[in-house]
Amino acid sequence: MKIAVVGAGAMGSLFGSMLAEAGNEVWLHDVWVEHVQAINKDGLAIERGGKIRTLSISATTDPEQIGQAELIIIFVKSTHTAAAAESARKLAGSDGMVMTLQNGMGNADILAKFIDPERVLAGTTSHGATMLGPGRIRHAGVGATTIGAWAETKQGAERALKLSAFFTKLGIESEAVDDVRSVLWNKLLINIGLNAITALTAIKNGQILDLEITRELSRKAVEEAMKIAGRMNIKVGEDTVDKVYAVADATAANRSSMGQDVDNKRQTEIGTINGYIVREAKRLGMQAPVNETLTALVETLQFHYK
Ligand code: NAD
Repeated sequence: MKIAVVGAGAMGSLFGSMLAEAGNEVWLHDVWVEHVQAINKDGLAIERGGKIRTLSISATTDPEQIGQAELIIIFVKSTHTAAAAESARKLAGSDGMVMTLQNGMGNADILAKFIDPERVLAGTTSHGATMLGPGRIRHAGVGATTIGAWAETKQGAERALKLSAFFTKLGIESEAVDDVRSVLWNKLLINIGLNAITALTAIKNGQILDLEITRELSRKAVEEAMKIAGRMNIKVGEDTVDKVYAVADATAANRSSMGQDVDNKRQTEIGTINGYIVREAKRLGMQAPVNETLTALVETLQFHYK
């Protein structure tokens, strides 16, 4: 398959490398010039479990160089999804599929404005990756990938099924689901319970559990979001707060992705996580004061980075 990755940072480079190593024609597209140059000059170095392998793979800052692709995978941070969608539209031509495995909500909706919604796929992945420097990534965690059609049609479901079977055959364990919105929401709720709080307070995930007052803040943010999900008829687990605490415990020593963004003075994905809840609450005439406060604080923090 001819595959283009738009946003070839940690995760885009990881998925691009796994698909290229399995024999596909893969192009990495990124706007980060040094990274693209390093990949083209010395290959992409992937560290996993202390071992480094180097892969020869095509990278470009110019999507026009790629031509048309059968599958376009979007892995920019959600702040750049609209720009990535513009590139994806050209890369997809009249029949390419476009898939997002980004975190947060709203990415697939943006893609569906640029590309025929029938060809938009969304999902989540439990793989983890870290950027080490230009041309260098770490494969930090291995896990399952879930894929579903954004337009819940029969044709979309068939595409998701085919793609997940294709990925699994290549060694990227994947599953197709009919109700991908609920899968994205369940991941969103975990991020709502952990990300902004850890980003604002400089704590690690596990430290959310140390104080009753922090646990309560996390619980309130999640329960508020669950009410919005309920109004939108999205199925979310009743035990979601317990799951948030379990994830905090299981990843106790980790800094959340938003925490890492704040540590490195990068724009965060707040707008598609807690900020998404605030927008949806307004649209539905509901209240979301906890998420509104968390969003305002993270936005203030990132606006004033020095
Ligand atoms: P990253 O910052 O490492 O990579 C994003 C890349 O996109 C950067 O290299 C950037 O230069 C590039 N980019 C920005 N604008 C672009 C544009 N218009 N066109 C092309 N490239 C552009 O981020 P990441 O950690 O790989 O995360 C990507 C997405 O995956 C996020 O939504 C994140 O939440 C999600 N995610 C990350 C992980 C993880 O372990 N890192 C795990 C699951 C999901």
